[in-house]
Amino acid sequence: MKTTATADELLKQTFGYASFRGQQWEIINAAVAGQDCLVLMPTGGGKSLCYQIPILIRDGVGIVVSPLIALMHDQVSALQQLGLRAAYLNSSLDYQEQQDIIQALQQGEIEILYIAPERLLQDQTLQLLSRLQVALIAIDEAHCVSQWGHDFRQDYLLLNRLREQFPGVPRMALTATADARTRGEIVERLALDNPVQFISGFDRPNIRYRVHAKTDARQQLLRFLIAHRDEAGIVYCMSRKKVESIAQWLTTHGFCALPYHAGLSSELRAKHQNRFLYEDAVIIVATIAFGMGIDKPDVRFVAHLDLPKSIEAYYQETGRAGRDGEAAEAWMVYGLQDVVRLRQMLDESNADEQHKRIERHKLDALLGWCEITECRRHALLNYFGENTPNSGCNNCDTCMQTPETWDATVDAQKLLSCVYRTGQRFGAMHIIDVLRGKQTAKISQYRHDALSTYGIGAHYSDKQWRSIIRQLMVQGLLRNEVEQYGALTLTEKSRPLLRSEITLFLRKDVFEKNTEVKTRKTAKTNSNVSETDRQLWEALRACRKQLADKQGVPPYVIFHDATLMEMMEYRPATTRELLNINGVGETKLERYGDAFLSIINNAN
Ligand code: ADP
Ligand code: ZN
Repeated sequence: MKTTATADELLKQTFGYASFRGQQWEIINAAVAGQDCLVLMPTGGGKSLCYQIPILIRDGVGIVVSPLIALMHDQVSALQQLGLRAAYLNSSLDYQEQQDIIQALQQGEIEILYIAPERLLQDQTLQLLSRLQVALIAIDEAHCVSQWGHDFRQDYLLLNRLREQFPGVPRMALTATADARTRGEIVERLALDNPVQFISGFDRPNIRYRVHAKTDARQQLLRFLIAHRDEAGIVYCMSRKKVESIAQWLTTHGFCALPYHAGLSSELRAKHQNRFLYEDAVIIVATIAFGMGIDKPDVRFVAHLDLPKSIEAYYQETGRAGRDGEAAEAWMVYGLQDVVRLRQMLDESNADEQHKRIERHKLDALLGWCEITECRRHALLNYFGENTPNSGCNNCDTCMQTPETWDATVDAQKLLSCVYRTGQRFGAMHIIDVLRGKQTAKISQYRHDALSTYGIGAHYSDKQWRSIIRQLMVQGLLRNEVEQYGALTLTEKSRPLLRSEITLFLRKDVFEKNTEVKTRKTAKTNSNVSETDRQLWEALRACRKQLADKQGVPPYVIFHDATLMEMMEYRPATTRELLNINGVGETKLERYGDAFLSIINNAN
């Protein structure tokens, strides 16, 4: 036995945590007992501990297979900070570095080895490892075996060889994304032996979901970001051009905002990504090119200035927030223009009809989700097939402020009639002008001021009519014809509405003039730190940054935000008290205890 410590003791002493989360304890026990496992846990759920602790308990070296080479360095640094003997083998190391690690392995000096699949499967590596005692093999991102998924990796298919190469060594497959079919594929393709399956739900309870009607996107974003000052986050935009202009604009407003898109040189992209990882409070403004393999735990918000293309994409992109389990926010603004543009892009794409139909379906699901008046979390989980009771999560915009609805039957009839009377040849802007009884050149030209629908909608603003049009489009009661330059037309579904056979309820957009900076539900984060605490907070962060820079690791590898928060809250004065803080284990106490204690004592 390498250690006589139990899982509970390791959790406390080595990792510095007070209790296991979710199913961690059960998973660890199954693996320690030598059983194969399949672990499905959402991002941030704490998958790593599930294999790290069994590896420390069982004899031999633990092998962690991961396709994300870029992450290995930081993952290994984080383990070394805990006093563990971890290493990685991949193509980023030079010959000598590799030789050193191989030698250390042979001498039994390494407890945890991270390795890329292609490297593991080389005959040489397999021979080397077969001669060693192996504690456990963890296969991370196990959904990569699925040929239907977007992360398919050829090398993963060959991992079934591990069963024969390492008989009797328990294997654990882990993933954050796998529906029932993919789970079946994982078990079969990796040739797991009667694995115990641990399936946790998709919920990310620490993420607050908010969706607002787009009015003035930049100002809305600014208001949102002011509530997140000094925090790291991602702002997603659709185009490279917009990425550039938003990044620049945020910079002029005093934020550290860096662009990231496929049009930038790879050096610049790497530089911006590194600053995001290694500095505090950097905002990345990016196209969807950014995010894969980003494992930064303290991303406090993900903002969407443009709609993603499906609920799956939205879940994945927003999922990059709050991996550390602390309060985080997923915020999005969207409007009529987004609906029009995304539908148009789909119509114009070269994909085959069947493919388009699926994409259209997915877009509609997302649009419908944007417009719902019920709990967003519930609807999101429902979409992924999780039937949770709809009791309201209290951590999404619709739960926190139930949207009002109104009987919009008559308003919708007015609008549809106006579209009909003008010949289904005009876009939203002109239709609204007619409804509101404006005097424009176009209206005179077509004599639309003579129509019975002229001026019948004067009681609403442009904004309100746009909201109605958007919602009618989302519900399929109105169409936007790409071939006719965006002319609005009626659909099959419009008829029963026009004949008053159905009633229609729409939601009132909240046109927030919100300067509201609500405090968050879960733990404090730095945006709602009181002024008196702020100095201490800054000092703790500065200390962390200095220690991190000296070792060339990201700050969160020293301590997570949550750990600094607890220090601020409880103000530990002795090493014993400091050890009680979540995230402070024995090794970190020894290395950094004095530095942080002296800062805290100075502040008292
Ligand atoms: P995943 O791989 O599932 O996305 P990680 O293993 O990276 O998640 O864990 C996410 C975060 O939660 C990490 O910061 C980790 O240190 C923390 N964490 C994991 N388990 C616990 C626990 N039992 N108590 C407190 N924090 C934990
Ligand atoms: Zn909710």
